[in-house]
Amino acid sequence: MSEEKIDEEKISEEKTGREKIRMDRFQYLAEVLDPSMDDYLFIYDLENDLYCISPSALERFPIPGCRFSNMAEACGSFVYPADVKLLREDLARIFHNEKSDHDLDYRWIDREGNPVWINCRGQVIRNDQGKPQFLLGCINEIGQQQRADNKSGAMRETSLQRELERYRGERLNGYILRIGIDNFKEINENRGIDYGDMILRRTAQCIEEMLEDGQKFYRIVSDEFIVLCASEGRGDSEAVQLYKKIRAAIDYFIADNHYEVFYTISAGVLDLSKVKKQTYANLMKLSEFALNEAKAGGKNQYYIYELSDYRVFQYRRRLINTLRQAVNNQCEGFEAYFQPIVDIGKGRLIGAETLLRFHTEELGRIPPTEFIPLLEETGLIIPVGRWVLEQALEACHRIQETIPDFRVSVNVSYIQVLKSNVLGVILDLIKTYQLKPGSLMIELTESGFLESNANFIKFCDELKENGILLALDDFGTGYSNFHYLYNLNPDTIKIDRSFTLEALSNPQEFNLLRHMVAMTHSINLKLCIEGIETDQELEKISEMDPDYIQGFVFGKPCPYDIFVKEHVLAG
Ligand code: C2E
Ligand code: MG
Ligand code: MG
Repeated sequence: MSEEKIDEEKISEEKTGREKIRMDRFQYLAEVLDPSMDDYLFIYDLENDLYCISPSALERFPIPGCRFSNMAEACGSFVYPADVKLLREDLARIFHNEKSDHDLDYRWIDREGNPVWINCRGQVIRNDQGKPQFLLGCINEIGQQQRADNKSGAMRETSLQRELERYRGERLNGYILRIGIDNFKEINENRGIDYGDMILRRTAQCIEEMLEDGQKFYRIVSDEFIVLCASEGRGDSEAVQLYKKIRAAIDYFIADNHYEVFYTISAGVLDLSKVKKQTYANLMKLSEFALNEAKAGGKNQYYIYELSDYRVFQYRRRLINTLRQAVNNQCEGFEAYFQPIVDIGKGRLIGAETLLRFHTEELGRIPPTEFIPLLEETGLIIPVGRWVLEQALEACHRIQETIPDFRVSVNVSYIQVLKSNVLGVILDLIKTYQLKPGSLMIELTESGFLESNANFIKFCDELKENGILLALDDFGTGYSNFHYLYNLNPDTIKIDRSFTLEALSNPQEFNLLRHMVAMTHSINLKLCIEGIETDQELEKISEMDPDYIQGFVFGKPCPYDIFVKEHVLAG
């Protein structure tokens, strides 16, 4: 070996030794500073492809170690796949000496597999020959909220998280009071963002002024605040008192401001001693639930968390998921039942109302009064309603081979009318099953809202124009009024069982119903009475001369095959 070569090796060994010392020093510094920092320090030895980072980064991200080599391969484990190319390109430019700094926003993946936005910023340190030797800098999570909020003067959610983490492992006592400004979006929309900011600031001030020892407050999301009191012996009654005091302070501010703006606040109270799982995520979830309950109860009020209410909420959510899965699974679990409707004058079966049923192995049978509002709330009534229409019209087509003037009634929800082209669906299906339009009766449930809605009236008009029959369901409950009859111009009105029951037990109600029947006939409408269960009831109600009867006395709702066997073929 030549002397020159030996020299070169010696120099290179010395250099690597020096670099190793530098890396060791850096690592020591990063370890010492780590508890005092939210960010992560890093050094990247570009010549030896060796990377070193603050130890706390390993707790959060699946990084191979505090020190690792072969960056190109290792970054695959913690850099978001779509951002790897961006990172490699930037590093390549540094390697090729095309730039002297690194300032990149991109994503890493945390230990739960979630993408986390980071900003990585660093400076290139060059060696004596001017070649890039180290990249030294800092990584911070830009998605992390700021810890304090200058708009409201409150601390931010991250500070609350830190505060709660201080108690990790201990059982927490005390309470969380989660306060939300009611209709804040409207304040912003009507009065502008600056005004909204002023309301936020004043609300925060009102809260802060009412705080006593041991109570800390934070701004959570745009219009929500949390007061945390983590002290033994202080519970929901103190939280309620605090809420009332804050509300009074806000009322005072509103009056002082000459009612230039009027707004209210709601609050959810979480007594920490009642919460078993006291993780940060669970406390946030439960306090959010409590605030939502207060808002759902009509706003400008408080609600105290109860496990039993939360279970109901969870069951509802579970039911919604189950319904959604069923819909995605070709409506598996749904069934169309049919209940006979009898023409009293002719003394025979004239049609059937299609009634939806739902069951799962897990949850058993769920009553329609429970699952239909959920289908409406989630919009799932649109696909399910189409499915019911199809079942009904197919059944009608088949039954008409035995009873040619048989007709089928289908309940249609206001959501289907207002948010989908249900008329188009109806007309298509009528064509598919080659039915006369008069073979289908659409049942609509009344409500004050529907009457005043122009689209709704248009839908009723279009049904009529196309020869489809219309029934007003549940007449005699809720908002019925006679304008309704005029505006929607139905063919039939159906009297709800609750009204029928009253009429059967109370002579005055009976009289009222009798007059309603007469009035209905005088304007050429047909009347169907629902909910007749016994022969005696049938006899009594028949005195009024209704047109149709639907009730258990003639048959309960049942599946198609049973309906055909018991009512179509037997009749
Ligand atoms: P509705 O349209 O007024 O249906 C009549 C309800 O009265 C049915 O309840 C029926 O089973 C019940 N009923 C009929 N005769 C008697 C009787 O003699 N005694 C008693 N105790 N009850 C009787 P169901 O099937 O539980 O349905 C409840 C409501 O759910 C329906 O009231 C309707 O508003 C809604 N619904 C059912 N199926 C559908 C559907 O496919 N779509 C929509 N949008 N709503 C539906
Ligand atoms: Mg009905
Ligand atoms: Mg009804």
